[in-house]
Amino acid sequence: MSKSLKTLRHEIDSVNDSILEMLNKRTVLIKEVVDLKDQTGSEYFDPERETEMMENVLRKNSGPLYNDLIREAFGVIFSTSLKYMGISYQKKMLVSSSSDECFKSIGEMFDLSSNGPIIIAGPCAVETPEYLETVAKHLKDRNIKFIRAGAYKPRSSPYDFQGLKENGLKILQDVTKRFGLFSVTEVVDTRDVDLVMQYVDILQIGARNMQNYELLKEVGKTDHPVLLKRGISATIQELMLAAEYIALKGNKKIILCERGIRTYETKTRNTLDISSIPIIKNETHLPIIADLSHSLGRKDIVKNIAKAVLSAGADGIMVEVHPIPELALSDSKQQLSLSEFDDLLDCISEWR
Ligand code: PEP
Ligand code: MN
Repeated sequence: MSKSLKTLRHEIDSVNDSILEMLNKRTVLIKEVVDLKDQTGSEYFDPERETEMMENVLRKNSGPLYNDLIREAFGVIFSTSLKYMGISYQKKMLVSSSSDECFKSIGEMFDLSSNGPIIIAGPCAVETPEYLETVAKHLKDRNIKFIRAGAYKPRSSPYDFQGLKENGLKILQDVTKRFGLFSVTEVVDTRDVDLVMQYVDILQIGARNMQNYELLKEVGKTDHPVLLKRGISATIQELMLAAEYIALKGNKKIILCERGIRTYETKTRNTLDISSIPIIKNETHLPIIADLSHSLGRKDIVKNIAKAVLSAGADGIMVEVHPIPELALSDSKQQLSLSEFDDLLDCISEWR
């Protein structure tokens, strides 16, 4: 007489219990391996070992499950263990909120008397010394401490203005020193890091390079604060992992920057992900600012969005400012004139 459905189900339940017990037993062993590797500083991931384990399993398989299905099932088991290890790494991330490793505020990085939100303003690119000087004087008069301007411009078209390179850095350094400001400029190539850091205070990693891991490691070897922008198609987690690359090389002065991501919306240049600000503040202890110019690509809503990001907890804003925006060689539509910048400052006075 064949077994009843009830009996069969009962037996399956008990096999499930055994699989569950085995899976957790495997997990405990994996945890021990991770701890051992931590102590000896060995590589966590070992592709050869994964292959060897799979081969052993397939060799011992006596059916009725086909090897293809066994491979699939054990693939899931192995990757579940890797995921489990991934979760334990997360907790150990240097940039995570549970770690005390990195600088928590921009004020601390620059010995500023206040830890309130900062403003980084300046033209998209260094163009003429006169333009930069005009902006610097304007900032100084308004007690703004950070000036931005690109000397290496990563442009979508190779025919567009690419920046003044080292000449631009020299102009930026000269103006910054004369007006007692801190400067921010983008570095796009690992080979330029040493040069750029001689001229500026903050190294910017642009959106296009957020996942250029060699560049992240290179700026991670310096002790210059790094402004790390979110890539246009990067998740919040990927931004945090990019920051981790910098921190792992020893540089603990990291400022994150939300600058909008690419969505199907065309009314703004990118979609500013305001929710990323409180999420990053919860999950890391890094300061985060919002770049209003490159996210919005337009000026008419900058004031509203500035208030929104500061309300969301941003540690600062970045905005492009040019003495004659119409004549700017890049991003002319989004750069604020000096008076538009003053309007913005009025609008956010309660935060300053
Ligand atoms: C910039 O800040 O000059 C710039 C190019 O920004 P992003 O990398 O965010 O596009
Ligand atoms: Mn720009």
